[in-house]
Amino acid sequence: MNLQNRIEHLQDELRTICQSQNRSFDEITLIAVTKTHPVELIETALKAGITHIGENKVQEAMRKLPMLISKNYSFHFIGHLQSNKINQLLSLKPALIHSIDSVYLAQKLHLALGRTNRMQDILIQINSSEEESKSGMGFAEAEAAISEIACFSSLRIRGLMTIGKLDEPEISRPLFRQMKELFEHLRESNLPGVRMDYLSMGMSHDYKIALEEGANMVRIGSAIFGERTYGVHN
Ligand SMILES: *Cc1c(COP(=O)(O)O)cnc(C)c1O
Repeated sequence: MNLQNRIEHLQDELRTICQSQNRSFDEITLIAVTKTHPVELIETALKAGITHIGENKVQEAMRKLPMLISKNYSFHFIGHLQSNKINQLLSLKPALIHSIDSVYLAQKLHLALGRTNRMQDILIQINSSEEESKSGMGFAEAEAAISEIACFSSLRIRGLMTIGKLDEPEISRPLFRQMKELFEHLRESNLPGVRMDYLSMGMSHDYKIALEEGANMVRIGSAIFGERTYGVHN
């Protein structure tokens, strides 16, 4: 299968999952995760109907995005964000930053935005599996932290993000379910400055489970582009 076929195949799969749940495919955002892949391949994906791309390293995005000829895409930053990279990231005008994982980072971002007079859409990253190696807030601290972050006037909280376990995908189902519960709870809480529009969860190995548990934004790399080889283009 070539890239175009793989994208169509994936879109068909997403459509089928949506149908089985009586949801509309239109409410799902598919983000093609382009990390490690060269500009030419990203260009091909954009021609094949991809409109959202995700990168997880500021440095790599800084190198690649300005080289894209097509400007018809939304850029999602999905990786761990170091505060010393904030200004560079903002220069790339991300549509959505998925990885705000502390009040501290949110404050740094707010201060950097203050100088540009821009609003930034963000998601709060939850470490749903509570693994040491992963970023994100624990479920227990999330609500209080979100209330604090909501006070930063240049940030718009648009939803939640999590990374499932890199394991048998069924193992992540209860975590995704807990995410959806928090998402609905926050939505009903109607906190000022907080909207729950996006629930970003599901990658190549577990997007089906994530969608079944209520995700409306999936971040998919290898199921589109094939396995990544590190060190060539990144
Ligand atoms: C790499 C990455 C993905 C995509 O992973 P695949 O398994 O290739 O689909 C999704 N989300 C984040 C945060 C990533 O870093």
